[in-house]
Amino acid sequence: MTQCEIPPSLALNSDPTPTGVRPDRGVFISTYGCQMNVNDSERMMSLMEMANFTPVDRPEDASVIIINACSVREKPVQKVYSEVGLYRKLKKENPFLRIGVAGCVGQQEKENLIKNQPLIDFVFGTDNIDELPLIVARLYEEDGPGKAVEARFKHREPYHVETLVRNPGVSTFVNIMKGCDNFCSFCIVPFTRGREKSRPLQHVLTDVRHLVKRGVREVTLLGQNVNSYRDDDMDFADLLAAVATQTDIQRIRYTTSHPKDFNEKLVETMAKHQNKICEYIHLPFQSGNTDVLARMNRGYSREDYLRKIEMIKKGLPDVVLSTDIIVGFPGETEEQFNDTVSLVEEVAFETMFAFKYSPRPFTKAARFEDQVDEDAKQSRLVRLIEAHETQAFEIVKKYEGQVLEVLVDRAEDATGKVSGRSTQNKNVHFLGSSADIGKLVPVRVMKAFPNVLRGERVMS
Ligand code: SF4
Repeated sequence: MTQCEIPPSLALNSDPTPTGVRPDRGVFISTYGCQMNVNDSERMMSLMEMANFTPVDRPEDASVIIINACSVREKPVQKVYSEVGLYRKLKKENPFLRIGVAGCVGQQEKENLIKNQPLIDFVFGTDNIDELPLIVARLYEEDGPGKAVEARFKHREPYHVETLVRNPGVSTFVNIMKGCDNFCSFCIVPFTRGREKSRPLQHVLTDVRHLVKRGVREVTLLGQNVNSYRDDDMDFADLLAAVATQTDIQRIRYTTSHPKDFNEKLVETMAKHQNKICEYIHLPFQSGNTDVLARMNRGYSREDYLRKIEMIKKGLPDVVLSTDIIVGFPGETEEQFNDTVSLVEEVAFETMFAFKYSPRPFTKAARFEDQVDEDAKQSRLVRLIEAHETQAFEIVKKYEGQVLEVLVDRAEDATGKVSGRSTQNKNVHFLGSSADIGKLVPVRVMKAFPNVLRGERVMS
């Protein structure tokens, strides 16, 4: 269902009060997880606003509380139950309060959530976000279902979801696809987000043009595996080129890439449009050992990954690389872990996100018998972070003295400090005012730290 298809009884300016809803109609959304979840929460809130609900900052002020929860990290379901437990008192005080669970946890657990925690009134999945206003409206009907679960994948339906964002600011996300067909053996995403589906290229362009009119300067094209984007015979590189040449957006980023699908055409496209496409690539490698990669079902070897990095660095000499790594995958030996450390050292990533392996339901790796014990995982994580930190400090020193173009997105007029991101995705701080927000400002870096660069505005 698109926003135009919201039932008339819920549309803006229609009768604002379905039976039993408190007139204040506040909605509170609690979000855990990745950018995709943050983007989904924004969509939920926009849809609820169109149905005459009001966003609130405190659960105490809400008639509807939604927990949009990620199941990629540890103990997600327990986290949901403990958050719902915090609302017990509110539920007692306010008989109109309805509590829902969404996101990957909703998709994964479905009715189990309501069975195990009766304070939960409704659950909806990752393909059912657009049904949210209708689900909530039915809950408030006198002869309504009382509880609701809507978590069916819509495999056969096209993925037509226009970007809904209330306050996009200067930089925002645009979904270009959903789901994943890769089935890495550790990952729950194919089970919670379903199969890959891409949005039509023209829809993405229309969204970006609208966002530009609303003052957006930078978009991040978002998908679990953007390199698999397809619209007829057009691929992700074609989409990037189209956004760069057929819209007035000033900066384009994207995430996330899969090494097996990252190709030369994409590098060439980035090089050709480097005035707009940021030379920053997040390319998760997960393990530096080929046997571990095979057990992860990643579809590439250590050597394949290194060849891709070489190709990227050749085509984009100033590229900034970041990555994701899992330590302590089932069966990983010390020697295999050392291959991961050596790959980090060889590639010289500016940013690294490292995690201890933890089993996820439905996944193949959760059934592997040779799980690594917790102490070994912890020790490997610490050693990997240490190895990277030593290197990261040296890498960022190269920025000292350089002039970077910073898109300002925050300002504290009281202190005169402003901050923003450079094309390299560096967080840069310098002196300015709120008048700088949305501007691209040249800044000379005076001092570089791994997580922040401090600089001075270059006067023209
Ligand atoms: S490619 Fe990414 S999202 Fe897809 S299964 Fe692998 S880790 Fe999960």
